Amino acid sequence: MAEIESPRKPHAIMISFHLQGHIIPFVNLAIKLASKGFTITFVHNEFIHHQISKSQYNSTQVDIFSEARNSGLDINYTTISDGFPLEFDRGGNLNQFAESFLIDFPTRVDEFVGKILHSQSSSSYNYFLIADTLCVWPAKIAKKYNIVNVSFWTEPALVFSLYYHLDLLRKNGHVPANGLEENITYIPGIQSISTKDFMSYLQGSESTIIHTIMFAAFEEVKNADFILCNTVQELEAEAVSALNENQPFYAVGPVFPTDFSESTVARSLLPESDSTEWLKTKSPGSVLYVSFGSLAKIDEHVILEVAEGLLLSEVNFLWVLRPGTVSCDDDEILTVGYKNRIKDQGLIVPWCKQNLVLSNPAIGGFLTHCGWNSILESIWCGVPMICYPLFTDQITNRKLVVDDWKIGINLCGGISVSREEVAEKIKILMGGGKSDGLKEEMKSVRNMMQNALDGSSERNFDQFLKDLKAKILSKTKD
Ligand code: UDP
Repeated sequence: MAEIESPRKPHAIMISFHLQGHIIPFVNLAIKLASKGFTITFVHNEFIHHQISKSQYNSTQVDIFSEARNSGLDINYTTISDGFPLEFDRGGNLNQFAESFLIDFPTRVDEFVGKILHSQSSSSYNYFLIADTLCVWPAKIAKKYNIVNVSFWTEPALVFSLYYHLDLLRKNGHVPANGLEENITYIPGIQSISTKDFMSYLQGSESTIIHTIMFAAFEEVKNADFILCNTVQELEAEAVSALNENQPFYAVGPVFPTDFSESTVARSLLPESDSTEWLKTKSPGSVLYVSFGSLAKIDEHVILEVAEGLLLSEVNFLWVLRPGTVSCDDDEILTVGYKNRIKDQGLIVPWCKQNLVLSNPAIGGFLTHCGWNSILESIWCGVPMICYPLFTDQITNRKLVVDDWKIGINLCGGISVSREEVAEKIKILMGGGKSDGLKEEMKSVRNMMQNALDGSSERNFDQFLKDLKAKILSKTKD
């Protein structure tokens, strides 16, 4: 039977989540959807807009999506306030900010969506909602306005599955894990996982506002019409298909820009240093890239051990040392003395275009905190990893990289680390011998990912679009 098309154009309202590791794939998803002919209204939090536009354009009066629109994509761009003035220190007042995100922000989104749906042009469109899975409001708002609700999960299916089955884990006494080390085999689609590999939010009995948000979000997602996951079906086949038994769940990753190393849409919260010239002076595969992502705080002692370990290893390195990485106020933790000792062995920058760096032939390894985007990007470029997970999903992501896919090694057993250990692991990863096996495994995982882009992920995305259109049509008849 021929598909019945609605005369109204499908129009996604996409409200981004305010963290760097969520913004990047969410923007990429908007571009992907727009390139399939969808109209998008993309919405950033006002303070995120200010941070991106200030750091990338030195002006806040810019439309971040104008270049994408000029290339023919139908994307409107606007902002929404979170209720705090721009200068409010959100990170420094995390509890107050998070509480408002949980309680007040949904009302703002509700008003915002209501306005769009009642605008003059609304009769030309069939609106639907796409929100990050960590948002606590989509199902209520979608229900109120009778629109389709799509949830986007920016982490692996394994992590989704553990949060999703929180009740089961609690019932069995495995959450909070409380230092217990036990293998769990009863979660559908997960053959076996040790409680030590659970995300940090499932580890301790402490309950913060962030725990409340995470757990509320995972109740909310159970009412989503569709869930898109930034993973590769072949890499997480069982977890993906088990989740699909509960709700329509599509592995559509990796959701990257069309040109992997450059995006037409600015997405970075910090200005990006360009290290291309320095990398040009290094031989292929000789540089270790080091980054702990956009959020993690690291103990001063650890940073100093990593710094000394890098020197001891005698391997070239490019280190992203983000301002605010260290818990103390001292951004100049690495003294002029240290920087002089590095000479030409290393380069330290506050932030970079990570995709551009990882795809540079000089890069031969990645010392990473195991953020999910970093892992996907590293696999895409075939760069094996040394894993130093710090919190949240990073702990669970490490299991996939080291234990399951064997494309990385652990830096150490826990958080504490010594310079000798750092140097030893770097030499293992960057030298021949033991790392040859890693490189072989990486080749096959990378192939799987690259094949998925035109294969399973593309098919899953197309299936999602088909299902979405059918659902939108059925809603209009409600
Ligand atoms: N990133 C970047 N420049 C940097 C460091 C990181 O552009 O100097 C990007 C990186 O490519 C990734 C994102 O920031 O897409 C970080 O996300 P991830 O999930 O790896 O970690 P998180 O920051 O969420 O902990």
